[in-house]
Amino acid sequence: MLYLVEHFYSIQGEGKFSGVPSLFFRFGGCNLKCAGFGTRYIVDEVEKVGCDSFYAVDSNFRSSWQEIGNLDQLISIFQHYHQNISHVVLTGGEPLIYVSNPVFLQFLQYLKSKNFHITIETNGTIAVPEIDIFRNITYSIALKLSNSGEEFQKRINIEAIRSIVRISKSTFFKFTIDQKAILQGADREISDIAKLFPNIPIYCMAIGRDREELEKNSPAVVDFCIKNSYIYSDRIHIRLWNGEKGY
Ligand code: SF4
Repeated sequence: MLYLVEHFYSIQGEGKFSGVPSLFFRFGGCNLKCAGFGTRYIVDEVEKVGCDSFYAVDSNFRSSWQEIGNLDQLISIFQHYHQNISHVVLTGGEPLIYVSNPVFLQFLQYLKSKNFHITIETNGTIAVPEIDIFRNITYSIALKLSNSGEEFQKRINIEAIRSIVRISKSTFFKFTIDQKAILQGADREISDIAKLFPNIPIYCMAIGRDREELEKNSPAVVDFCIKNSYIYSDRIHIRLWNGEKGY
């Protein structure tokens, strides 16, 4: 079963396509938990910790996710939106947990047949098969560092990254850090990956679940990018909408 958490039309808030009007499909489920990002939320009166997309990660929220059993359900969602859409972003959770899901594959085929530019936002831990349907897609690979709280073996899968880099000429890495991560060696963690993939652009952005946290963490990340020649990415949606869902 394919689960859809939400869909909305907004601007891309971060990374290479910042500012580009985009139709977002957020799929439910993730193979990581990333408690290190420290977003606290309550389920059945129990406090849990996860990332800022916890409602698309934690299966306790599944009852609020839409079950998608066929392509027509996704196509009908397009009919809610106007005709000038050119960029479609598939995000999550981790959308590539559906890498073998027939409806997900049909959806990619449909989007390509309509000439949409597709970006898949992934954590880079799931290999993409070398088949045409996965070509000519932008992969925004948000690799997780030790500040995510996940074990190295879970969060870094070099073969999966290689499979994506092999199939797409439009790939970039995105790292989410703050001053603490910088002091704890984010430069070494990132450069260890960069050495293996020297041609892939690297964007760094600040941890920030809301405007205040983003503003607090951004200056250190800007300095870090200047020092290391990485590309600073802001998080426009956080600045504008303060971390509200649906933007
Ligand atoms: S990989 Fe991304 S969506 Fe999944 S838990 Fe980590 S930060 Fe959240």
